[in-house]
Amino acid sequence: MSDLRYISTRQGSRTPLERLTFEQVMLAGLARDGGLYVPERWPVLSPADIAALRGLPYAELATRIMAPFVGDTVDAATFSRLVREAYASFDDAEVVRLKALPVDGLHLLELFHGPTFAFKDVALQLLGRLLDALLTRSGHRARIVGATSGDTGSAAIEAVRDRKAIDIFMLHPQGRVSEVQRRQMTTVLSPNVHNIAIEGTFDDCQDLAKACFNDLAFRDRHHLTAVNSINFARVMAQIVYYFHAALQLGAPDRPVSFCVPTGNFGNIYAGYAARAMGLPIERLLIASNSNDILTRFIESGEQRITGVTPTFSPSMDIQVSSNFERYLFDLFDRDGKALAAAMESFRASGNMNVSAAQLARARATFDAGRLDDGDTLRAIADAQRETGELLDPHTAVGYAVARQKRGDRAVPMVVLSTAHPAKFPDAVKQATGEAPPMPARLAALAAKPERYQTLPNDIGALKRLMDDAAVFA
Ligand SMILES: *Cc1c(COP(=O)(O)O)cnc(C)c1O
Repeated sequence: MSDLRYISTRQGSRTPLERLTFEQVMLAGLARDGGLYVPERWPVLSPADIAALRGLPYAELATRIMAPFVGDTVDAATFSRLVREAYASFDDAEVVRLKALPVDGLHLLELFHGPTFAFKDVALQLLGRLLDALLTRSGHRARIVGATSGDTGSAAIEAVRDRKAIDIFMLHPQGRVSEVQRRQMTTVLSPNVHNIAIEGTFDDCQDLAKACFNDLAFRDRHHLTAVNSINFARVMAQIVYYFHAALQLGAPDRPVSFCVPTGNFGNIYAGYAARAMGLPIERLLIASNSNDILTRFIESGEQRITGVTPTFSPSMDIQVSSNFERYLFDLFDRDGKALAAAMESFRASGNMNVSAAQLARARATFDAGRLDDGDTLRAIADAQRETGELLDPHTAVGYAVARQKRGDRAVPMVVLSTAHPAKFPDAVKQATGEAPPMPARLAALAAKPERYQTLPNDIGALKRLMDDAAVFA
């Protein structure tokens, strides 16, 4: 097995490169220089290699696509077992489901059949198992501290529940997450899961989590780690479904385009990676809500920070898309020093410009469109009328942008469906007049016992609770 290494997007180009193994990247998350890790090269599949993947069951395809990234960090039999176990947790035997829509040659790729009904399960179900295997092997335990405004906490909790070497402390703002969102977290009674309701806002929760990381002695004592979207293993796991969909639509003989409801750029960056690996992807469409920094970038070549507006698609309410730096690294011809300088000035001034030549290159791969809240509700209603499908607000943004920017109708366009509509019943009801049907597993949450602790917005109280939690074996 080739020995693929990883480098930071901000690494100086003159000093000898620091080349990390997959295991080091998994455990480190963010690079010490503030950059993100990327593979030093993309493994490339020939058309014949791609054709040979046709018809494989999802877990088998996933094992083959990810193998070059993992290298010999995990032996082949163990890796294949972890992948099979991760995807056995999905409701749908196909894991992700491709549906043809009766409109414009569009297809829907449903990524929400995992334990928490959102696409993040696809990556996190594997990440939790991989992290646990690596920690167990090295004889370490780690603790995850995270803050959630409601949507992503449950995916992280489901990823690590009952894992042997990981404990998770998830902070949510008391009384400010929906009942379903709270119950998705607090009905997980595994001893390694600690739900904490903070008497404060989501920002307070984030500040508390950050303060834990900034106290280096505390961070080392607890072996703190994060499972957020900058971990490269999440990108790696997401590459698989681009292959899965494109193979069903005729790849490698036929190109395919994708439209991706985008927040932190992690999902669509995996599509970019699939393209770099040789998958014939014609265009990648960035679908934004009103928080449209990336759509404005594709229009103007300028990345400019503005405030965050709350929308019906909260998982796309971002100010800056953290994974975009990975793409910029390539746009800067992998000159980490130049990118580090550009990112520092971007953080200080709130804007950055790329050259006309760089913008032209970006536009050769990406196109972008946006949808405000009013149009999002209309898109949910339109999609239901035109296709019979009930879409969640994130997917509806993708559906409408795919129609706006359809392009060559001979090329199939796949809209990634990132959440089950029942996760966002209020918006769906406002759009269609009817609440979406609740999957039995979500409805059952109402009758399950909950467990969580409540703490004041006080870092001392949080640290005492974590110090006292006697979960170290
Ligand atoms: C996280 C999320 C997104 C955005 O994905 P990124 O990888 O951050 O671009 C879109 N839709 C849903 C439902 C999500 O949970």
